[in-house]
Amino acid sequence: MTWLDLPADHPFGVHNLPYGVFSAGDDERRVGVRVGEHVLDLAAAAEHAGMESAVVWRTPSLNAFLEQGREAWTAAREWLTEVLTNEAHRDAIEPHLLPVADVAMHLPVEVADYVDFYASEHHATNIGRMFRPDSEPLTPNWKHLPIGYHGRSGTVVVSGTDVVRPSGQRKAPADPAPSFGPSVRLDIEAELGFVVGGSTRLGEPVPMAEAADHVFGVVLLNDWSARDLQAWEYVPLGPFLGKSFATSVSPWVVTLDALSAARVPLPGQDPEPLPYLRSEATEDGAGTAFGLDLHLEVDWNGTVVSRPEFRDMYWSSAQMVAHMTVNGASLRSGDLFASGTISGPERGTRGSFLELTWSGQEPVTLDDGSTRTFLEDGDSVTLRATAPGPGGTVVGLGEVTGTILPARTDFPA
Ligand code: CA
Repeated sequence: MTWLDLPADHPFGVHNLPYGVFSAGDDERRVGVRVGEHVLDLAAAAEHAGMESAVVWRTPSLNAFLEQGREAWTAAREWLTEVLTNEAHRDAIEPHLLPVADVAMHLPVEVADYVDFYASEHHATNIGRMFRPDSEPLTPNWKHLPIGYHGRSGTVVVSGTDVVRPSGQRKAPADPAPSFGPSVRLDIEAELGFVVGGSTRLGEPVPMAEAADHVFGVVLLNDWSARDLQAWEYVPLGPFLGKSFATSVSPWVVTLDALSAARVPLPGQDPEPLPYLRSEATEDGAGTAFGLDLHLEVDWNGTVVSRPEFRDMYWSSAQMVAHMTVNGASLRSGDLFASGTISGPERGTRGSFLELTWSGQEPVTLDDGSTRTFLEDGDSVTLRATAPGPGGTVVGLGEVTGTILPARTDFPA
């Protein structure tokens, strides 16, 4: 129990404690922890307690804290749990709690490298059917390795940032030549982003047993995608400008520790992957290649159009870390890797509008009676998620939202 006036089922109760970067008024950006409807100013509280570690929280990103590694993250969580549940700390802590409504939230991490995976079998199958109708939906490599590409870290933005409709080249198969203009098939991808902490050395792969120790926590992530640009440019090197104009993330990083009750076994991998990607048994039964039981919803202008389940994902975050480093590539604190679109087997669980409308052939109807295939200017999309917490509690991941602004026309095509 906490001394805060907080209902036990609050999604940001003391069982959650996600980290973010905030500012209040004109103050500097610094690290905070969300508890209920408040943000704890971590540096101020830690300085008051005389903790040397306060210095990593008086910075405008989580990166310094991420670099300290799992022992420091565990110690911080234990300290936070103690001071927020033991009434004896109330007088010292309470002055450093700010109403969440009074602060501005910023990008939580200075994103180092950004990688996007493709880990949903249902999504990969749907895309294969649409993009390559004459071939097997899954490529021959799909069940042997978690496929990914390197994205653009500099255009990862925090929830609430507007997204300008991108322009670029597109060419439908029947067109004689490419044309230039604003994307007419602008889409979303509902994903989970994993925030990396604890740098590794170049040349030293991270084994499965240690992979989760480099995952600090998760954010909701919207991989905005211009399908017409993507379809023309992606062969043979993969996604490029159809993706790199913006990637939105939620402001609160929910730690892997807060999601311990949400760990579940993967749906099953057949064929068994190569040894470096194999799951090993763990006490909780979920294995080192655990999945996560997260319930998402995709909200389009106020209408929930899809409810993807993250536990349907084929590949796990630990396998992604093991695969990303098996060639000796090093990790940096602040690296961000995303799961790929989270799609389930039914229409109502698809995580992109491309799939939901089957390439625009089956429009969705919103609550206001309007219909949609792809995003129109002024449209807003919000992703939300929750997970089971300990003792029947709910862990909130908050939300990531963005609104589409019209394409720029003030440059020569
Ligand atoms: Ca994606």
